[in-house]
Amino acid sequence: MIGLTLTENSLEKNLLLCQNHADQIDIAELRVDLLDEQDILEPIIRFPSVAPVPIILTYRRSRDGGAYTRSERLRIQRLKRLFSGAFAYVDLEEDLQHSGLEQAAADHNIKVIRSFHDMHQVPGDFLKRITRIAEQGEIPKAAVMPTSFADVSRLFSCAKELEKIDRKILIGMGVFGVPTRILYRRCGSMLTFCAGAGTRRGAPGQLTPEQLKTLYRADTISAKTAVYGIIGNPVMHTASPAIHNSGYMKLGIDAVYVPFHVDDIRNFLNFAEANEVRGFSVTIPHKKQILPFLGKVSREVKQIGSCNTVIREKGLWKGINTDYYGFLHPILEDLETGLIRKALVIGAGGADRAVVWGLRNFSAHVGIVNRTHSSAVKLAEETGSRAYSTSELEELREAGDESVQFDLVVQTTSVGMEPDITADPLPSYRFRGDEIAYDLIYTPKVTKFLQRASQAGCRIVYGYEMLYQQGVLQFKSFTGVDYPQQL
Ligand code: NAP
Repeated sequence: MIGLTLTENSLEKNLLLCQNHADQIDIAELRVDLLDEQDILEPIIRFPSVAPVPIILTYRRSRDGGAYTRSERLRIQRLKRLFSGAFAYVDLEEDLQHSGLEQAAADHNIKVIRSFHDMHQVPGDFLKRITRIAEQGEIPKAAVMPTSFADVSRLFSCAKELEKIDRKILIGMGVFGVPTRILYRRCGSMLTFCAGAGTRRGAPGQLTPEQLKTLYRADTISAKTAVYGIIGNPVMHTASPAIHNSGYMKLGIDAVYVPFHVDDIRNFLNFAEANEVRGFSVTIPHKKQILPFLGKVSREVKQIGSCNTVIREKGLWKGINTDYYGFLHPILEDLETGLIRKALVIGAGGADRAVVWGLRNFSAHVGIVNRTHSSAVKLAEETGSRAYSTSELEELREAGDESVQFDLVVQTTSVGMEPDITADPLPSYRFRGDEIAYDLIYTPKVTKFLQRASQAGCRIVYGYEMLYQQGVLQFKSFTGVDYPQQL
């Protein structure tokens, strides 16, 4: 089930939220502790009869991450009264035993979810606690905070250890926990929670109903669904899940592509092997660090020294680099026909290696300019290019030196990326108007750098084109089929 947590401060707003998402959710959780008027009980009692989906009643204390701060006696009294509403479940905390609430809930045919929360860690005894609650005949719910990928792995491996408990809820919160929310059925959880976009007080790491239902199709994931994903740190900003998951949906492929926030590659690979992850994309900062773990690498990975795509092949992890081809795709004809002979690359970071090698493999002369000049020098030495300091470049251009009249200028730094969209990576560079200007940044689509180039009359290439092309190539490597022409 996909469950929507109703965190608005009035019943009217919560009902609207529920109605707006009715076709994406199976159940909703009414957080009474977040209502402004929680002492007027009648409208709350009526809520489940007007809501379009079954409702879980939750009245959460502040020490469990909720907002209720008054006496425990009053909370229990109110809960008992609220049971006259047609709630499907009530969420009661683990330590709230023998308060008479259990019998009162049973009298009203309301099932008890017995929950515990740890906002700081995955507690060492969480398996024992889940088992103990299930033995009481209640539905255990653990909402815990993984603080490393090793913790995420533990949450997934407990699916096997707790296999016999068929009704349980397991949630990993925060950015590390996101895969447990998407692959909740693989964790053996009967329910995953999401929050309406823009609503207040969603738990950390919560996704929206649209994301769970439409983007990840979380409620259709089974043991047979092929799992792919992207590892990075940070990773939640990436547009890759939208590219891959839309392709699977269009072609009817039973697969899902999940963002994995990873701090330790070894731990991720252990997880990937145990959970049959068939392939994954690699982003900042793991593109180089992944190399020692690969059993096989393509020619480009060897040359560039960076890998953005890993596929499980005959029991080995094989690394390829689709950034390389993704970058070349929009300018391939210009390189093949010799229209691009001299290129300037701004930056000398992770993405540059694929860019500079791509250009050098077509025999283009490459100049590199970077904030940290020594990195530009190092990359230039390695690739047979030339490093310029900003002032040297300026002087040579002012003197009309032919060697710095470039056909292509590629911007590969993160300068100008959201949120700092007015920043310009090389303000002293004056476009002639007949160059091609290419920016790797894809948020925003039109950067300050591209704006200036376009105003000068240059042909421009957007970062999204590279992102899309490298994704299309990854899709083919993962699934063996072409990315759909139209979505
Ligand atoms: P990175 O390894 O962190 O490289 C950052 C580069 O930006 C370095 O050259 C760094 O210079 C420079 N830089 C950072 N802050 C700067 C500042 N304030 N002033 C001047 N220079 C600065 O990052 P990356 O992986 O190469 O990614 C860079 C950009 O490319 C990101 O926006 C990323 O989203 C984009 N990208 C796009 C695609 C795509 O498919 N379109 C693929 C990969 C990357 P120093 O050496 O001096 O630190």
